[in-house]
Amino acid sequence: MYKKLLIPLLVLVFFLTSCTSKKADLYHSLTKVDAHVHIRTEDPAIMEYANSQGFLLLTINTRSDSQKNIDEQKHFAMKMKDLYPEDISWLATFSMEGFEDPGWAEGVVQKLQEDIDQGAVGFKVWKDIGMTFQDSQGRFVFLDDPLFEPILDFMESSGLPLLTHIGEPLNCWLPIDSMTVNGDKNYFTDNPQYHMYLHPESPSHKRLMESRDNVLASYPGLKMVGAHLGSLEWDVDVLAERLERYPNFAVDLAARVCHLQVQDREKVIDFLLKYQDRILYATDLGISGSSYEDRLTWLENEWSSDWTYFATDSLMSSLNVDKEFTGLDLSKKVLRKIYYTNALYWYPEAFK
Ligand SMILES: [Zn+2]
Repeated sequence: MYKKLLIPLLVLVFFLTSCTSKKADLYHSLTKVDAHVHIRTEDPAIMEYANSQGFLLLTINTRSDSQKNIDEQKHFAMKMKDLYPEDISWLATFSMEGFEDPGWAEGVVQKLQEDIDQGAVGFKVWKDIGMTFQDSQGRFVFLDDPLFEPILDFMESSGLPLLTHIGEPLNCWLPIDSMTVNGDKNYFTDNPQYHMYLHPESPSHKRLMESRDNVLASYPGLKMVGAHLGSLEWDVDVLAERLERYPNFAVDLAARVCHLQVQDREKVIDFLLKYQDRILYATDLGISGSSYEDRLTWLENEWSSDWTYFATDSLMSSLNVDKEFTGLDLSKKVLRKIYYTNALYWYPEAFK
């Protein structure tokens, strides 16, 4: 009797261990994309490290307050692209300087065309649009303002995607003790100037989301990736509603994996399975200058713990999350999409 059971049991044990080890192996054998990083250095150590881990990088030029700053970021992006043409791609952005001057939008379009000619594979807009810039009447300028129409028309007709970081996590509009992750509690305690709960005169989270959604609706031919889970990080059901409504919308996970870890595990798994073609793995790594070993250590930990979370069913803990949580144990097929193929689909000109 026991002998009869023993062989199938051994087969089962072999099968289970080989599944787990296959997923661990997959990390090393799979080409992966970190679809949201900010590389502002000529020091190639980051590229060498990414290479050793099988990661390609999408570096993002960002902030809209100064052309000088944007030009510096572009310089670093193009330099790295020169050195590692197959391992890195970059997104362009534009400056809001002089946005009320006649011909401003046409000038932006011209510069973005130059960026494309020089290798940009898409565009980025940052949260200062909607949260910082005000016109001469004192009104906040949102992404759905007619001001941006020529720029969005151009982006749509270029066929290249737009990464939008609009708004902040909903926690930013809540009192500190209602915030869901410890990183936000610490950040907004230390930076009250950015804590919107304390600034009711500033735009609401709802209005910011509406401005982004209006662009999705008005430009159905524009592929849009919402950075940071589209600032709808607190509830996968709310995010699912947007993904249902806008087929041209996908989201990256940059700096928001912890917001999945505080939600119901089964609900998160169902969400990731249903929208497995619309989620892009990313960290929001920022690197500048040289001797940035501490950033590489941070990155090593992010890449490794995020993989453990998505690929295994390990019991995990994190400084960001008060309770222990269990990894999602996603299938190889889904992992391959989130870590690789989705980035190639949503950024079709990248990594060529
Ligand atoms: Zn970022």
